[in-house]
Amino acid sequence: MDKHRVAIIGGGIAGLTACLELAHHGYDVTLIEKMPTVGGKIRQVDVHGAGIDSGPTVFTMRWVFDELFQACDCNFEKEVAIQELSVLAKHYWQKDSLNLYADISKSALAIRDFSGIKQERLFLEFCEVSKKVYNALEKPYIKGKRPSFTSMITQLGLSGTKSLLHIGPFSALWQSLEQFFPDPRLQQLFGRYSTYCGSSPYLAPATLMLIAHVEMLGVWSVKEGMIAIPQTIARLAKNRGAKIITNQTVLRIQTHQNCVQGVELQSGELIPADSIIFNGDVAALSTGLLGEQTRLATPVSPTGRSLSAMTWSMQIPKNAFELSRHNVFFDQNYDQEFTDIFQQNRLPTHPTVYICAQDRLHSNPDSH
Ligand SMILES: Cc1cc2nc3c(=O)[nH]c(=O)nc-3n(C[C@H](O)[C@H](O)[C@H](O)COP(=O)(O)OP(=O)(O)OC[C@H]3O[C@@H](n4cnc5c(N)ncnc54)[C@H](O)[C@@H]3O)c2cc1C
Repeated sequence: MDKHRVAIIGGGIAGLTACLELAHHGYDVTLIEKMPTVGGKIRQVDVHGAGIDSGPTVFTMRWVFDELFQACDCNFEKEVAIQELSVLAKHYWQKDSLNLYADISKSALAIRDFSGIKQERLFLEFCEVSKKVYNALEKPYIKGKRPSFTSMITQLGLSGTKSLLHIGPFSALWQSLEQFFPDPRLQQLFGRYSTYCGSSPYLAPATLMLIAHVEMLGVWSVKEGMIAIPQTIARLAKNRGAKIITNQTVLRIQTHQNCVQGVELQSGELIPADSIIFNGDVAALSTGLLGEQTRLATPVSPTGRSLSAMTWSMQIPKNAFELSRHNVFFDQNYDQEFTDIFQQNRLPTHPTVYICAQDRLHSNPDSH
């Protein structure tokens, strides 16, 4: 019997993951990526011979990769050289700085030195609540295959519902943080987590505080740069028979009698397929960029966009400023940053700046 043919549009981490799993299970998979290399937002820029991570610099939820690799009969840690970070990040304000550590008790002590014993206690309470929110949402939402409001309500159970009601799931993250932390610098620090998924802390739901717990479960960096993850997944998929085409844009999804038939590439080539996975921006489908036939395949996307980041990749002299590996520089008027982006539709005049000093030691918490 002929193998089921799958075309995957886009070689970001999501497309590659699907590619590996399907190839491992014997599907006839072709992945098409419009850029010269796979990885999507996980990308590396060559600056005078040094490969600089210019998208993600670290990853969390390592179990996702462990499970993917195990399901494909290999071992994540053997395939990709990873290292757990002991310092999650160093945060700077005009006059002060604060390290957050993988070890909660170390972070609590640092917060006591930084902001007093009351804030230390409140931080530990915050960690507990963040953990409860994560635990409540892990099964119905994070691991849920197609989470919906109804499936979540059914699966939350009594303790999950209680945890969410405790933080007020429909209140903004910022409101919650104001209740936890009288110190505005800590509101700012923990509010930043909402930007990880492109949201403003003043608008995002309080449930996003679960990111604090996710980070405390571990943050990892990759020795050869994050790009090693998509490259490894692509290699393993190819070993299992997947075809990966780069430098080719998919212009159209072809259909016949309401079924997909294949994809048409910029080169004019047609790749037949029985199923198609689209790893691009979902709005591209509903706005008809991949053809009229697939316009109705997804609901119309909201017009507002989430925020991203402006990145620069550079080499600078090492002695310019004592940096840790992960450094976040905060300004004073935090709300102005989000007013600029979401209401004024312009780049912030006083943005939060994140610097990944990629050559700094991975695990030397007290060096700076
Ligand atoms: C600056 C920055 C920093 C980040 N930092 C972190 C971090 O530290 N840790 C973390 O976990 N996450 C981080 N993220 C988020 C993370 O990078 C993304 O969530 C993730 O990489 C998205 O993967 P994806 O596969 O969903 O999409 P993408 O990476 O966007 O992949 C989509 C791919 O589809 C291709 N494509 C689209 N349309 C077509 C078409 N018609 N034909 C062919 N190809 C097509 C695109 O070229 C692209 O390669 C960061 C993101 C950014 C931008």
